[in-house]
Formats: sequence, structure tokens, C-alpha cells
Amino acid sequence: MSLPQFTFLAPTSLSEACALLEKHQGTIKIKAGGTDMIVRLSHRAVKPDYLMSIKKIPGLDTISYAPDTGLTIGALALLRAVETSPLILENAPMLARAAHATATVQIRNMGTVLGNVCNASPSADNIPTLVAMHAAIVASNGTTEREIPIDEFFLGPGRTSLQANEIAIAIKVPPLAPKSGVSYQKISPRSKVDIAAVNIGALLTLDENEQCQAVRISMGAVGPTPLRAKQAETYLTDRKISDETLAAAGRLAAEDASPISDVRASREYRKLMVEVLTTRALKEAYGFAKN
Ligand SMILES: Cc1cc2nc3c(=O)[nH]c(=O)nc-3n(C[C@H](O)[C@H](O)[C@H](O)COP(=O)(O)OP(=O)(O)OC[C@H]3O[C@@H](n4cnc5c(N)ncnc54)[C@H](O)[C@@H]3O)c2cc1C
Repeated sequence: MSLPQFTFLAPTSLSEACALLEKHQGTIKIKAGGTDMIVRLSHRAVKPDYLMSIKKIPGLDTISYAPDTGLTIGALALLRAVETSPLILENAPMLARAAHATATVQIRNMGTVLGNVCNASPSADNIPTLVAMHAAIVASNGTTEREIPIDEFFLGPGRTSLQANEIAIAIKVPPLAPKSGVSYQKISPRSKVDIAAVNIGALLTLDENEQCQAVRISMGAVGPTPLRAKQAETYLTDRKISDETLAAAGRLAAEDASPISDVRASREYRKLMVEVLTTRALKEAYGFAKN
């Protein structure tokens, strides 16, 4: 694999890294694990003058949990670390399932969850669950930090609302409300070790009468950015959960999906799979919420 020529930068602090982003705006790219970036470089999809690794910046690889604020996953936390973290498995096991569904164990030992998010691929495995769970990206410009709700983060394939001088330093996932359940569902042509043809994240919260109090459904690989199944969410809210209402929500989700046909799946197949996987995800999330 040959790469285009670039100058490799490896800052050792956040302020240094953000200053380099500012200085070389338009000609610099960030690398975390590099599992997406190196492929893009080798395909000449990007030709930066500078490639900046953030791996030497200390403190970005932590995963922490606090009952009031929830989980914080650092920018350098590996997919494999998220998949196996006791904190994640205890407090948000669907994030571990999504990380596990990503690529191979070799890739998961290099790539990061934040890299998967910042790469902003519509089919990324870790995004739908994070969207369903109200995650927020913490961005730093070296001096100040801001939180970007994940619903406002994706602008298009490969495009995010990070400013040119900002690095995503962590992703925050708030704690679940009582009587909540989450699910992640994926289908891909090769079944294992493949990019999703469709993937769905769902979060369902029940009220004291076991009716749906709130629901968030995120659909991947069916539009240029992750899409919320808004019609299905509105339909289910305040409604009793049954096989019929979950099936109806699945059908409404398919109406909100706007997939294209490509090598992985046709538009028609994707629509059908949105219906099937949404119903399946809601059923599983309901099961967790009830218990
Ligand atoms: C063989 C193979 C199989 C794969 N299979 C899957 C799969 O099944 N599912 C899937 O979803 N993905 C898959 N991927 C894609 C990739 O492994 C993941 O997206 C991974 O999580 C990327 O993380 P990374 O740390 O390597 O990101 P990098 O490659 O380092 O970066 C990815 C992008 O995000 C930006 N970026 C990274 N970190 C930050 C940050 N902290 N702040 C701002 N910008 C940042 C980079 O500039 C770049 O544009 C696969 C890749 C390969 C090579």
C-alpha cells in the first residue's frame, strides 16, 4: 500500500494539536487509530500536506461513569476497549454490542469509537445506538470546550459540525431513565465482518402503566446522515406496546428511510430491512425496559 507524501505530526498536548489545526487549516487531517484514514490516504481520497496523530495526547483513552452524568468515552478509547469495558457492559451494554459488531478484532484493537463517529459514514456501526441514547460530542479548540448534541453533529457523509480548529475529545452518554431499554440491530450482506446495509438503534422508555413514554429510533445506511424515524417515534409515544403497534412503527420507519441502491443492497431491500430491524429493535428494547 503506498501513501501520498505528507508531513507527519504527533503533538503531545491538546493545545499544541489545536494550534496545529489552526495553523494548517485546509491542509491537515487528524488520525486516531487510522483504520479509516490510512485507507482514504492510500486511495488518494484525501491528500493532506499534514497528517496529525492524536495518539500521543495523554488522557484521551479513558472510559468513566458517574451516576448523574453517565458515561464519558475518550477520543482514544479503542473499539475493543468499549466492547469489553466492565463500565460499558454494566451501564450501556448496547454500546458494547455495537463496538463488537464493528470490523474484526484486529481493527477493533486499532480503531476508536470516536473515530467511527467523526468519520461520519452513514453505515457506521457505533452511531445509531449513540443517537438513540442522546449522546453528545465534546469538542475542544485547545482553550474552550463545547458539547455538540449528536443530532446536530452529522452534516453529510464524512462531514461533521466540528470547526477546523476543533478535536473531538470525548463522547458523553447520559444515564438511562428508569424503565428504559436499548437495542442495536444490524444487517449486512456477508452477515459478519461487513459494513451495515442497514442498522438501527432504539431507546424505549415506559411509563408506570407500561405505555411508551418516550422513544428514539436512529436508522443508519438509509440516508446521507443517520436518520431519526420521526413518524414511528410520534406514533409510539403514549401508546400501549403490542406486537401490532411495534409492527406499525416498523412500517412507519421504512417510510422515513430514504436509501439508495448500491453494491451492498437495493433501495427496496433496505426499506424492507428498516421495517424488520426497527420492529426487532423495539421489541428487544421493550423487553429490557419491562424488566
Ligand atoms: C477492514 C476494515 C473493516 C471495517 N469494518 C467496519 C465495520 O464493520 N463497521 C464500521 O462502522 N466501520 C468499519 N471500518 C471502519 C473503521 O475501522 C471505523 O470507522 C473505526 O472506528 C475508525 O476509527 P479510527 O480511530 O481508526 O479513525 P481514523 O481512521 O483515525 O479517523 C477516522 C476519521 O475521523 C476523524 N477523527 C478521528 N478521531 C477524531 C477526533 N478525535 N476528532 C476529530 N476528528 C477525528 C479523522 O480525521 C478521520 O476523518 C472498517 C475499516 C477497515 C479497514
